[in-house]
Amino acid sequence: MYDILIIGSGPGGYVAAIRAAQLGLRVGCIDKSEVGGTCLNVGCIPSKSLLDSSLKHYHLLNQFEDHGLHVDGVQLDLDKMMSRKQDVIKQLTNGVDALFKSNKVDFISGIAKIKNRNEVEIIQDSKTEILETQNIIIATGSNPIELENIKFDENIVDSEKALKFDRVPKKIVVIGAGVIGLELSSVWSRLGSSVTLLEAQNEFLPMLDKRISRQIFREFENQGLKILLDSKVLEVQQDSSEIEVTYSIKEEEFKLKVEKIIVAVGRKAHTKDLFEDGLLEIDNHGLITVDNFCQTSEKNIWAIGDVVRGPMLAHKASEEGLMVVERIFGKDTSLNYDHIPNVIYTHPEIAWVGLNEQQLKEKGKDYKVGSFPFLASGRALASGETAGSVQVVSDNDNDKILGIQVFGPSASEILQQGLIAMDNGVTSKGLSKTIFSHPTVSETLLEATLAMNGEAIHIQNRKKK
Ligand code: NAD
Repeated sequence: MYDILIIGSGPGGYVAAIRAAQLGLRVGCIDKSEVGGTCLNVGCIPSKSLLDSSLKHYHLLNQFEDHGLHVDGVQLDLDKMMSRKQDVIKQLTNGVDALFKSNKVDFISGIAKIKNRNEVEIIQDSKTEILETQNIIIATGSNPIELENIKFDENIVDSEKALKFDRVPKKIVVIGAGVIGLELSSVWSRLGSSVTLLEAQNEFLPMLDKRISRQIFREFENQGLKILLDSKVLEVQQDSSEIEVTYSIKEEEFKLKVEKIIVAVGRKAHTKDLFEDGLLEIDNHGLITVDNFCQTSEKNIWAIGDVVRGPMLAHKASEEGLMVVERIFGKDTSLNYDHIPNVIYTHPEIAWVGLNEQQLKEKGKDYKVGSFPFLASGRALASGETAGSVQVVSDNDNDKILGIQVFGPSASEILQQGLIAMDNGVTSKGLSKTIFSHPTVSETLLEATLAMNGEAIHIQNRKKK
């Protein structure tokens, strides 16, 4: 009898399994494929590998000259880039395998189905086995959404296949200008593809402050991405060499011929055939219903990560996994869902947490705002990375930081520093008293908090109301 059986070995499942073993619980982690889930095998890690490789290519062609470095005859070896990516994946999945062994987590290969509160059926190579357990954690993740009128095939692909093209397509249409759409567009446009993004909404990155999303839009257009908002894909027609995409913007129809279509219109929870009918409740978004602590209607069955409410992010899944295991063990662990950081790994990166100015206005909250452009940062200027800005908002009553948005170099790392302050109740004034090393791009966060109080040194402060 296991203490915990975990279904899925992605960043939700494997992290939960390791913590359970650390706490001395008998734990098994089941997966039908390689350990590591979407993140390590076909998502976060391979995409970051290609984002980094393609950025080096882009810089070689577009930035080195500015630094006085003339580079002739740049040659792209896509096979090598792809095999490097596979090596990175292998190193990480081997690492998780080794951690499972050293922590004594049982890795169980096969397809799992929950029969009842205490029994999980495992099917592997036509063999069926029933495992008994005190608790079950579902961490089965999500799959890309396929559009009704545009079915996946060799040339119309999801995010997984778009990381495996064997040559650089001349022209690509990406459907959806969200997180995946922007990251994959960046990879292929930096390697030489002409990329058009067709986005259904009439607003670009609506979760961000409007001023920042306008900066991002302009910067990406400068990098060569063509982003068409308010557009609807009506039809695709393929012949042997190309795909004709018919789309409309405000009733007007357009046509575009491309080699590949990447569909990045969101992901859906993976719950198919996972449990006996009626055992668990599924909401109208297809997600397993859970409480604030990821507990389902069956008290010893828990669900974490992409299969439940909240953002589909690896670190959110991992934190939920840790919380659930610690609660099973008897601790009172909880998670602050208002403080989950988000990052889009474009160049520059886009990172945000908490609320933005518009959201605070809608809530009728009395707030202060401070922002600082990278153009005024000595370090950003020295490295030639001056696009973007940092914006911080705080509560006007108690000065607690309520949200941070960063578009610029090392945005993910800068955001994390602000989030540590938020998590520990440090006020904007408190953060602005911290000594930041000079010259660093992190100083933009310091200056944004100073600007909030009319005290920024390296820009003209806004006049106080
Ligand atoms: P997303 O929700 O970020 O973006 C999907 C976009 O597609 C939206 O802008 C939406 O308006 C648009 N869209 C939907 N239907 C459309 C249609 N028919 N035509 C044109 N546009 C359409 O989803 P995603 O980019 O597919 O990512 C899926 C999930 O994975 C997200 O929750 C994301 O946060 C997560 N993810 C995160 C990271 C990261 O943290 N860097 C990386 C990859 C994926």
